[in-house]
Amino acid sequence: MTAEDGASERGRDAGTTVPPPAVLLPDSSLLFDRRAKRLAAWVDGHPMAGYLEFLSRLAEGQQRAAAAFHSPIRPGEAEWHRHQEHAMPLLPRDTRALDEGWRNVLADLLTIRSAADLPAPTRQAIDELAAQSAADLDARAFRFLHGQVHPDKLAATLFVAAALQVVWSLSAAALDPARFQATLPFGVCPVCGSAPVAATILAADPLEGVRYLYCGLCATLWYYPRAQCALCESDKAIAYLALDRNDRLLNDHVKGETCGECRSYLKIMDEAKSPGTEPFADDLATIGLDLRLAEAGWHRAAANPFLMASPG
Ligand SMILES: [Zn+2]
Ligand SMILES: [Zn+2]
Repeated sequence: MTAEDGASERGRDAGTTVPPPAVLLPDSSLLFDRRAKRLAAWVDGHPMAGYLEFLSRLAEGQQRAAAAFHSPIRPGEAEWHRHQEHAMPLLPRDTRALDEGWRNVLADLLTIRSAADLPAPTRQAIDELAAQSAADLDARAFRFLHGQVHPDKLAATLFVAAALQVVWSLSAAALDPARFQATLPFGVCPVCGSAPVAATILAADPLEGVRYLYCGLCATLWYYPRAQCALCESDKAIAYLALDRNDRLLNDHVKGETCGECRSYLKIMDEAKSPGTEPFADDLATIGLDLRLAEAGWHRAAANPFLMASPG
């Protein structure tokens, strides 16, 4: 791998013509459609082609389910107050906020079952979910939202995560961006409190060169200074690791931003080098970089929800 230190990165977003907005909320009419197209664009020649193709279809299903979903989680004034005065996430990851609407989204997503080419474990997971009671499904949602996912349950968790992405991203899309605080501690999503799934450097004027972190649950982008660790907030030992030119897993626009203080990394994507960058899709498609970073002893700061597992 090739390395550069963080010094050249620092302050590179200082020259923007406008103060960067604290959050860029998702556009629910485009989000999953864009993600589906980006995932599909990765398929050709990719070592995980089959999986990315399936995820692209799942994202198409999410777009359809989003169009039929009409009960976003809405914060009251008490939640806005907690956010503005105490830097708390506005719509925290918790099942208390959910009603039966999320299970309708899940049921919609499970109709992917009729696609002929699903692998057996996926089909099994769908049948299992379709047979479960509302209480059992809510318990699954709770475990996912609190990071308690058993590695054996990944196929079912994928659908639960996908349904909750629809709920949280549509809830985020309905918020007033002007009411957000500048930053929350430790780089967590100001909407839902998730750790970032990746970072992206925007390419379009007037936010060219500005770095935002991306939420894998609610698809909010939130401002975070360049060359600062999103996990421990240190800027002392930031470096960038990229794959070698001749590495077959190379994707030019994605690097690992590593922090020598906490030994973690976050992937950072440069939109200017790959127009149409979609952080969630590109994170999944560049898992080769994660493999190389893990081999080099770096720990990923937060899992992608579609690849999430924890023991126990
Ligand atoms: Zn979020
Ligand atoms: Zn750190």
